[in-house]
Amino acid sequence: MTTRTGRSLSGVTLRFLIIGGGPAGNRAATYAARLGAKVTVIERDVIGGAAHLWDCIPSKTMIATGGAMSFSRRIRGMGLEQAEPEVDIHALTDRIEGIKNQMQHDVTRLLASQSVRLVTGTARFTSPHSVQVVGPEGTETIEFDAALIATGTRPRIPEWCEPDGDRILTTRDCYPPKVFPESVTVVGSGVTGVEFVHMFSSFGTQVNLVVSRQLVLPGKDPEAASILEEDFLRRGVKLLKGARAVAIDRDGDEVVVRCDDGREARSSHAVLAIGSVPNTENLGLDAAGVDLNEWGYLDISHHCVTNQPHIYAAGDVSGKLPLSSVASMQGRKVAEHVMGLHTIEHRHLDYDKAASAIFTEPEIADVGLAEAEAFASGRKIRVTKVPFSTIPKALINNDPRGFVKIISDPATGEVLGGSIVGRHAAELISVIALAVTANLRVSDIVESLLVHPALAEALAEAAE
Ligand SMILES: Cc1cc2nc3c(=O)[nH]c(=O)nc-3n(C[C@H](O)[C@H](O)[C@H](O)COP(=O)(O)OP(=O)(O)OC[C@H]3O[C@@H](n4cnc5c(N)ncnc54)[C@H](O)[C@@H]3O)c2cc1C
Repeated sequence: MTTRTGRSLSGVTLRFLIIGGGPAGNRAATYAARLGAKVTVIERDVIGGAAHLWDCIPSKTMIATGGAMSFSRRIRGMGLEQAEPEVDIHALTDRIEGIKNQMQHDVTRLLASQSVRLVTGTARFTSPHSVQVVGPEGTETIEFDAALIATGTRPRIPEWCEPDGDRILTTRDCYPPKVFPESVTVVGSGVTGVEFVHMFSSFGTQVNLVVSRQLVLPGKDPEAASILEEDFLRRGVKLLKGARAVAIDRDGDEVVVRCDDGREARSSHAVLAIGSVPNTENLGLDAAGVDLNEWGYLDISHHCVTNQPHIYAAGDVSGKLPLSSVASMQGRKVAEHVMGLHTIEHRHLDYDKAASAIFTEPEIADVGLAEAEAFASGRKIRVTKVPFSTIPKALINNDPRGFVKIISDPATGEVLGGSIVGRHAAELISVIALAVTANLRVSDIVESLLVHPALAEALAEAAE
């Protein structure tokens, strides 16, 4: 039992041990340290985690450069003429490395400023209150009062395919980009898959996409998915719909992706984007008495506690929403709980209210209740939709694609959710996310005095 200052009732400072230095581990570390805990973070790779090394940062940096290329193609409609830009792959790699290094430096400095101890090595529980760390400095046993498992996930590799890091790739093999493939077949049309399709096609690579259903982005707003498909077709992406990949083999300089219906796609490279598996093996969970669920993830309570009351899990390894933003917020909630703050000001994390975005062109973002979900549950909703083609700023930007959709309760006007397709959707969704989290009504959005001309005017019109 600890107090708000991180001291146990016996007056001893709480020893809080964190395995994994990604967004979940970092946020928990800095916040718990600020609240008074003695924090140790063990990281086997680089601080910042997969999010900085392979996932969010490199993918979004490459997408931003690809986006600048597509934008430069659109400027002709804005009264400008310019030759087609060319990618300098070395400059792009330097840019990705520069941003990653800057972020790692900032996180390391932040942890050091809170006196968090960083230990490089691989951790494994040896008992419910100790871990052994094996690293370049040797082997060390560290004891703790409370621990957080924030070890993340890694790409799922199916039994029918063996990535070689050369032409048959996981998403992690794509950075730093050694070459831009002449052609690529992306297997998987979820969020990661479509972002890779968008990224490669922006750089001029010919792309095939294996889509297991009839529409990309299962579980997302079908109208948004249809607009994205239109963009893919405009870019010359070949969609193999209703097909499941069953084998990927090399054939000389080509890669052949074979599907269950007999179709095949040939390209210079293939990228697997079919989900991830948790990093929970070899953690010594038996020694700590921590249980895994049937999928190998760690089940947690709404306070992120595992079946052991002093051991928490946060981030992708908890099998909740695999988003950096969610991992970071879970880390914060863990710090609050471990330091005894939850009884005073803790609000439960509501995963249904997490905003998420897909960084394609146009961007797709959503939050809260989805239209299809409401219809399936029989809940009465009001759906209002405004296309960007009616919004002056979208015309000024020469990009009128997409829409804003707001879902509200017809009786009370409470904002329940929304989706946005279009330029800056990932930024604009914050307004609806705030409304959903703070239980605001559509009238609160309508009565906000917004900027003109701005894309956000579509939000006010949809709320009207
Ligand atoms: C291609 C791609 C793009 C993405 N883009 C976005 C995005 O734009 N926005 C977004 O919100 N999310 C994005 N995500 C998801 C995001 O990357 C994850 O949700 C996030 O990284 C999860 O953070 P985490 O702290 O749980 O784990 P991680 O970031 O995976 O960190 C876990 C850390 O634990 C370490 N570790 C594991 N085992 C041990 C051990 N035994 N001992 C010591 N250290 C250990 C690992 O080395 C790793 O550094 C993306 C994912 C992918 C695959």
